[in-house]
Amino acid sequence: MPGPVALPLPPSLWAATAPPGPAAPPLAGTLKVDVAVVGAGYTGLTAALHLAERGTTVAVLDAGEPGWGASGRNGGQVIPGLKYDPDELEARFGPEQGPRLVDFAGRAADLVFDLIERHNIACDPVRTGWLQPAHSPAARVSVERRAAQWARRGADVAVLDRSTMAEMLGSEAYCGGWIDRRAGNIQPLAFARGLAAAAVAKGAVIHGGTPAQTVRREEREWRIETPGGSVLAGTVLLCTNGYTDRLFPGLEREVISTNSYQAATRPLPERLRAAILPGRQAASDSRRVLLYYRLDRDGRFIIGGRGTAADEPAPALFERLRRAARDLYPQLAEAEWGNHWSGRVAFTVDHLPHLAELGPGLIAGLGYQGRGVAMATNIGKVLADRLLGARPEELPLPIVKGLRPFPGHFLRAPALYLITRWYRLLDMVG
Ligand SMILES: Cc1cc2nc3c(=O)[nH]c(=O)nc-3n(C[C@H](O)[C@H](O)[C@H](O)COP(=O)(O)OP(=O)(O)OC[C@H]3O[C@@H](n4cnc5c(N)ncnc54)[C@H](O)[C@@H]3O)c2cc1C
Repeated sequence: MPGPVALPLPPSLWAATAPPGPAAPPLAGTLKVDVAVVGAGYTGLTAALHLAERGTTVAVLDAGEPGWGASGRNGGQVIPGLKYDPDELEARFGPEQGPRLVDFAGRAADLVFDLIERHNIACDPVRTGWLQPAHSPAARVSVERRAAQWARRGADVAVLDRSTMAEMLGSEAYCGGWIDRRAGNIQPLAFARGLAAAAVAKGAVIHGGTPAQTVRREEREWRIETPGGSVLAGTVLLCTNGYTDRLFPGLEREVISTNSYQAATRPLPERLRAAILPGRQAASDSRRVLLYYRLDRDGRFIIGGRGTAADEPAPALFERLRRAARDLYPQLAEAEWGNHWSGRVAFTVDHLPHLAELGPGLIAGLGYQGRGVAMATNIGKVLADRLLGARPEELPLPIVKGLRPFPGHFLRAPALYLITRWYRLLDMVG
């Protein structure tokens, strides 16, 4: 079947500054493995790495290259937790699974930093925490509640009053908030490439420029067809998140994907670097249509925010980000701007990651609500653990049989537009 040969890596700050990844030539011919993974982002690569470490034969296929999707384009903020606060998770999942899920979510950043250390991944890791500044008094109450819930469970977090937050941010724009010291930041594409190199070193094979075009059951195994050949595997993991296409019928309706946009300055002069986030924390604020920002290794200021369903970045969105940056930090008026780029984030109907069993030995793991640096890495390991024999009741999240699609998925573009407008209005009055 004809198809695209390779998706070139779109330009971004991360593409310009990451060390090269391992060779990942397109698949040519037929390959037989224990496990085939579609998608070479954090989910697929971590799954492959853990499986290969335990002697499983694994092939990872990606239409682009390792880190081509959100994993190579994100803000690099390594934040533990899920969309819901610990008390809500425990109420929702009950006394057995609830605490297990909270513990898993609370430790999510640990796995990222452990992998970086264990595999010597050069991705500029900084672990000085994550700030969530509150944009309104009502938001302050809610983020303080979040901090209190984590503190009750022994997490290294603290509530910050207005002046401490202003000092840590170097901006007077907020009215307090909290710090989660379990968190940190990384160069995201360098992390993805490092995971890929680690997986290859353990025996996994990775084929870039290899779109999976069909997946079908043949007697006791799965056959994945690609333009240059096919893979036969006992088990298939679909790790395609916001870039999920029609490979498996209906899976694209499991998530709603929207684009998040980022813009970065050129390296700032020392005077500005010292005044902005002097502790080098990452920050994402409490708005519904949030702003997230940080400095990188070379003192560039990077800011991101939610955009539209369209993949083609609109210049007005980047201008909005630059304006938001100047509102937070008036001193950036003199800064020169460099790269801007975008990528897709994926939301699920219940705002939780989904582990979906779509057939015998065909499992999808996706849906991180824009918070997947830590969570996708962890879900990759959960998928590997399951294949290596972990019992379902030992997993932090259930593997659910079948699809959990968004009702009215075909209306996603206008719905996203309206919801974003409505949320922006609430944020303004909030
Ligand atoms: C701009 C932006 C900023 C973000 N900032 C943060 C942040 O600061 N902190 C945070 O925690 N999270 C952030 N996120 C979210 C985070 O990046 C994602 O949740 C995470 O990277 C998802 O990883 P993944 O491996 O599941 O998917 P991806 O990295 O998106 O990988 C999916 C891969 O599947 C491949 N694929 C799809 N279909 C096929 C097919 N048929 N055949 C072959 N290959 C296929 C794609 O090419 C792609 O490479 C951000 C996301 C974006 C886009």
